Amino acid sequence: MPAVHTAATTTIATAPRYRGRFAPSPTGPLHAGSLVAALASWLDARAHGGVWLLRIEDVDTPRCSPAAARTIQQQLDACGLRSDEVVVWQSTRSAAYDPALQRLLAAGLAYPCGCTRSAIEAHWQALGVVHQPDSERIYPGTCRNGLHGQPARAVRLRVDGPIDWTDRRLGPQRQDLGREVGDFVLRRADGLWAYQLAVVVDDAAQGITQVVRGEDLADNTARQIALQRALQLPSPGYLHTPLVRAADGRKLSKQNGAQALDLRDPLAALQAAAAVLGLPELSSRTVPDWLAGAVAGWAGIIAGFATRSDP
Ligand code: GLU
Repeated sequence: MPAVHTAATTTIATAPRYRGRFAPSPTGPLHAGSLVAALASWLDARAHGGVWLLRIEDVDTPRCSPAAARTIQQQLDACGLRSDEVVVWQSTRSAAYDPALQRLLAAGLAYPCGCTRSAIEAHWQALGVVHQPDSERIYPGTCRNGLHGQPARAVRLRVDGPIDWTDRRLGPQRQDLGREVGDFVLRRADGLWAYQLAVVVDDAAQGITQVVRGEDLADNTARQIALQRALQLPSPGYLHTPLVRAADGRKLSKQNGAQALDLRDPLAALQAAAAVLGLPELSSRTVPDWLAGAVAGWAGIIAGFATRSDP
């Protein structure tokens, strides 16, 4: 560690202690795919001698349920994955999200938007642009300079240009937010907080230094970094884990038949998740022994990532 000498004191500059998190949305129980992200985030925290937190991301209240959150906690518990600190529920965090939004509005970095989904669709149709049915619609910036007499619905962050970042597993990434995403929503037309705002405020409030989550979330990272910069918050490191695919090749989800994790045999569930992460089979008979062996295995795997992404 570099020593910083000043006239009166000598201090040792130390990196902040590793703090990681698993942040499920309680729309249903954990399945084989979500356990991969939970396990990887836990292993990464432990391999770095760090702290691991569970955060319940229940901002989308109509889609989330406290019962699902409790089931997730029981499932994680059976797998030996327990939050090191009090579990934070995003549904209780409006008092933290609102000032962040107000700061962005006051600085002109965010603005109210009166566009409906169909107005955005109509904009692109008029230009002859065809979207895939499930692809995201790029926001064309209609309300950037005012509401044109429309009532305000959502609040959007103003974005411009490319964001470059490095994923510890996937390597260097770039997304041109202006061209590929457009100004994105921070507070939704129905008044609910958008995932992007909640996740950025909470990662900072909890001092998260490393985000480890499924690869399906990788393309949210540039938006989150843009928002961190707008709010003058530090950016954590990022590592996105491989996805478990359903028979149809799509990411395993409730919609394509993912089964809830079977708690009768947590070791089998952990072993299956570990295989997705490239960890070798372990013969341990108890969950704590298995986890200790897996931490050692994970340390070897991330050493390989580091050499791959080193310049
Ligand atoms: N709540 C998100 C999900 O369950 C994860 C968010 C994150 O890890 O950043 O997909």
